[in-house]
Amino acid sequence: MLNDLPSQAEDKILALMAQFRADPRDDKIDLGVGVYRNAHGHTPIMRAVKSAETILLETQETKSYVALAGDPAFTRAMADLVLGDVVAQNRIAAAATPGGTGAVRLAFDLVRMANPDARVFVPGPTWPNHLSILDYLGMPTVTYRYFDSTTCEVDVAGLLEDMGDLRAGDAVLLHGCCHNPTGANLALTDWQAVIDIITTKGALPIIDIAYQGFGDGLDDDAAATRLVASSCPETLIAASCSKNFGIYRERTGLLMAVSNDASSCDLAQGNLAYLNRQTYSFPPDHGARLVTMILEDETLRADWQAELANMRAGMLSLRQQLASELRTLSNSDRFDFLAGHRGMFSRLGASPEQVARMREDHGIYMVGDSRINIAGLNTDTVPVLARAMIDAGV
Ligand code: PMP
Repeated sequence: MLNDLPSQAEDKILALMAQFRADPRDDKIDLGVGVYRNAHGHTPIMRAVKSAETILLETQETKSYVALAGDPAFTRAMADLVLGDVVAQNRIAAAATPGGTGAVRLAFDLVRMANPDARVFVPGPTWPNHLSILDYLGMPTVTYRYFDSTTCEVDVAGLLEDMGDLRAGDAVLLHGCCHNPTGANLALTDWQAVIDIITTKGALPIIDIAYQGFGDGLDDDAAATRLVASSCPETLIAASCSKNFGIYRERTGLLMAVSNDASSCDLAQGNLAYLNRQTYSFPPDHGARLVTMILEDETLRADWQAELANMRAGMLSLRQQLASELRTLSNSDRFDFLAGHRGMFSRLGASPEQVARMREDHGIYMVGDSRINIAGLNTDTVPVLARAMIDAGV
């Protein structure tokens, strides 16, 4: 019977990583994988996470199950981190999930259960896993224009025009900040226009926020999510702790369903627990507990925020260095968008042939759509990338 299974396409980024490992060149540069790296190419365990783990090792007395929707203290801490005080806690139903991916999956499942005919509007492009999960669930998708490959900025007019096709009962997927894979983001005033369309049409916003703290700061990066959640009657928010707490393999995420009233909040809560139960029963707890401890403890939280601020500043300064190198080399400002993009990624706007040339001639590895991981660079490799881009004719 197992012979009858369909064969699955290989993950493009994992295939690229394998190709990188097999490259014998000493000066090769990996800008492919979506994981934060420091200047030494290392993905460190954050100090506050280490401290919380040490405390947990000493103090935790049981590993018994927690609750189907996870620990309510984790929900409270994360709701506060993501939403601040813009939404009353009693309007928030939530479930802890294995990573942000688990939260995204749960969000789509919930939409499908509430409205089997829902279409999901997705940005063009989006994180490829969004599309493959939707495809797996058999949910129809509509791509709205997002990235303008000429300017490497958001095509706001195209986006608003395409959202005009929304119908009541559809869902709209939005990246809360630090858009993956492009790095291009809507300004807060554009978000207001998006909210106006969504509410007029009676659609449901789903916000995927996987990089809070990687763009302009914890509050700035959450501003759009807060605006949506406080303006729309209902909002789904899938939050990931993988990047901002650096706990990728602990699989820590949360889906929040901001509801219109207490009775729909109860219904959503029951369905979130039900969906967790059908999928994996209890969600993982270790990462969620560390996050809760850090957010609830003044000293740990301050240390975490300081380290996160340092990581963010490093990525911003690499962006500025790259834009400035390219300004000199190209004698133009056409790469200034790199300094304006936010988060770990930027799409360079290079063709697949140019991407291949940079890989073959310079040992620089990036995803085929020309997405680079800014955190894969350091001050020494930025000029190498800039030169390679110009050589490849980008
Ligand atoms: N959404 C987006 C846009 C992402 O880039 C990622 C991480 N690649 C995730 C969700 C989920 O990440 P994780 O499951 O590792 O928390």
